[in-house]
Amino acid sequence: MNPTFSPLLPADSGAHIGIAGAGLLGQLLAWQLSMKGFQVSLFDAASASSPNSAAHTAAGMLAPISEAAVAGPEVYTMGLYGLKRWQTWLGQLGPQASQCFHRQGSLLVAHPQDECELQQFLADTRCLNNEPDCAINSLNQAQLQQLEPDLSQQFRSGLLLEPEGHLDNREILEYLRQVLQSNKVAYHEQTPVEVAPYTLKAINTAQQWRFDLVIDCRGAGARHSNRGLRGVRGETLHLQTTEVHFIRPVRLMHPRYQLYVVPKPDHRFVIGATQIESEDTSPISVQSSLELSSAVYTLAPAFAEARILEAGVNLRPAFSDNLPQCFSRPGLLTANGLFRHGYLLAPAFVDHLLAQISQSAPSPFASYLPTHHHYDEPVYE
Ligand SMILES: Cc1cc2nc3c(=O)[nH]c(=O)nc-3n(C[C@H](O)[C@H](O)[C@H](O)COP(=O)(O)OP(=O)(O)OC[C@H]3O[C@@H](n4cnc5c(N)ncnc54)[C@H](O)[C@@H]3O)c2cc1C
Repeated sequence: MNPTFSPLLPADSGAHIGIAGAGLLGQLLAWQLSMKGFQVSLFDAASASSPNSAAHTAAGMLAPISEAAVAGPEVYTMGLYGLKRWQTWLGQLGPQASQCFHRQGSLLVAHPQDECELQQFLADTRCLNNEPDCAINSLNQAQLQQLEPDLSQQFRSGLLLEPEGHLDNREILEYLRQVLQSNKVAYHEQTPVEVAPYTLKAINTAQQWRFDLVIDCRGAGARHSNRGLRGVRGETLHLQTTEVHFIRPVRLMHPRYQLYVVPKPDHRFVIGATQIESEDTSPISVQSSLELSSAVYTLAPAFAEARILEAGVNLRPAFSDNLPQCFSRPGLLTANGLFRHGYLLAPAFVDHLLAQISQSAPSPFASYLPTHHHYDEPVYE
């Protein structure tokens, strides 16, 4: 970590920044940097109308308690910050975007024979007991039914994780794209690039662009050139039905898997997600689709008549500790590793990166998100 903090570019310098990858991080950084007066060019391998980012596949849950249970209390702290920041950001994106933020908590339920999973969850989150706002409420069957009347009555107990929420993430990505257009961000779609300090090079045409700073936000797309980065396969189903009216994410705790249902606009639901240590991006397997469908049917039998609109597969970008990391050298900032909590941690990570790029004060998350400098950064092959 660099003890003497120095920003990469002075604020309002009008410097030109090239960003590789227009997924979650790339779009958010492009938006924030364009608002600060930087000239920004954004490159993505996919077309804007048919995105291929983990951000597009994701369920958009903001689940600081659930994620901290597997990742530790720093994820909780950054996650709470994320919940507040998303609300502010969406307000800045406009009144319609504000409607994409939902905070009614999330529910955890288990089959009667698996109720020990709920006890285990409480044990796994004991480290959060003294954390601010960490409200976990035990519910009986009647309380579960009151919160989600369409939930199967077989569930006798559950947990309400009060601080949690979710986003209509695909809609937000679309609003971001619109604001980037108004902010005159140059968007190069269908342009896969190679990344080097000060330079982006189109893989297909060998065209090159020079910048004052390049930011590498290629997510799992950077795994072949970014040592230590891996992709973790995740599969989802997108369903549509008017028969189920869940208003909050519901997770089924099971000894072999944890699956969730997240409500989306237009009577849609995202059912997710598998987590497989594989970089295979081929279509969803029969086993995964059976597990996802049977879990959702167990949660609410009315899902039986839902229509399957889509089966999504993508890779979560992750380092070995499953936490985001940035690497800085002159002309190049690499930001990656948001793993399965990208939406939750993006606000803390983006603000941390902005502090490095343009501000004069260090980031409030410097102790959680160390910046590696050129002497210990990943090697670009
Ligand atoms: C199934 C699934 C469910 C998830 N659910 C949640 C959730 O509920 N809550 C949550 O907080 N997080 C969730 N996530 C995690 C979240 O989606 C990721 O952490 C986040 O999207 C990572 O952001 P990113 O910008 O680093 O990568 P991405 O969003 O994947 O964006 C990377 C972009 O780089 C582009 N790219 C790649 N290579 C190149 C190249 N050579 N040149 C140009 N462009 C390139 C890609 O096309 C893509 O658009 C989920 C992820 C998955 C897969």
